[in-house]
Amino acid sequence: MSVPMITLNDGTKIPQLGLGVWKMPDDEAPGIIISALNNGYRHIDTAAIYGNEVGVGKGIAQSDMARDDIFVTSKLWNDRQGYDETLRAFDESMDKLGFDTLDLYLIHWPMPAKDKFVETWKAFIRLRDEGRVRAIGVSNFLPDHLERLVDETGVTPALNQVELHPRFQQLSQRAAHEKLGIATECWSPLGQGEVLGEPALIEIASRHGKTAAQVILRWEIQLGLITIPKSSNHDRMRENISVFDFELSMEEMAQIAALDSKEGRIGPDPATADF
Ligand code: NAD
Repeated sequence: MSVPMITLNDGTKIPQLGLGVWKMPDDEAPGIIISALNNGYRHIDTAAIYGNEVGVGKGIAQSDMARDDIFVTSKLWNDRQGYDETLRAFDESMDKLGFDTLDLYLIHWPMPAKDKFVETWKAFIRLRDEGRVRAIGVSNFLPDHLERLVDETGVTPALNQVELHPRFQQLSQRAAHEKLGIATECWSPLGQGEVLGEPALIEIASRHGKTAAQVILRWEIQLGLITIPKSSNHDRMRENISVFDFELSMEEMAQIAALDSKEGRIGPDPATADF
């Protein structure tokens, strides 16, 4: 079953579900990427800091798929922010991936204390205008960071990739994205596996003959979010993409909405993160 496409604010189309590859060793990445492509994945989410851009590029090159049929995201790491440094870091990522064009490039974290994200964004705009990247976006940007980008450059990010799972649902962040016309992409969409034992999810899953992981991913799909679950395991990869043959009811969506928690955050707070 094919994965639906979401149209971003610049007209670029992104598959709504992709494979996250954080913590995937570079030497294992080619085999895992080929397996993912064989199982229907057409969207891969990597980053310079993951250290596996070479392996991701190799997997795509060694597959029997055309490069144009696969959507690849990479991200600029924090220590490369700044206009000139961003352009150099982008070239390095492209050399590693072995691509002429990237589909989506993200500023990985805003790092507000460094106050370089606006000049970094200006370099992103140049890369897009030169046709080296199809779409540009950000990750972990809070509403005030997004507004600064728009106010100071006039260019709205296509997408913001943020922590989002049933225990951390990001309602106000999602509302800010909607207001600005920015798509929301979920990182750690399965809560890194920790939320899978939640009784409500297990109950909903058994009703549909699905797993708790599939119920979470389906919930994200029905909310119109883009999601990038990570797995290196063949069976789980297949399980995670098999979420387009059932539908959660409004009551089930509400049951999952009730799992949101003030203590649900797993990762760093972007307001203070400085690493
Ligand atoms: P995730 O929520 O995708 O969980 C992954 C873990 O859940 C796996 O390691 C595995 O142990 C388990 N799992 C996966 N499928 C399962 C299944 N079907 N059944 C049972 N367990 C299963 O966590 P993640 O890797 O942190 O996030 C996904 C992706 O998001 C990353 O690979 C990366 O691409 C991206 N990410 C981005 C940022 C950012 O700052 N932009 C931060 C973290 C992650």
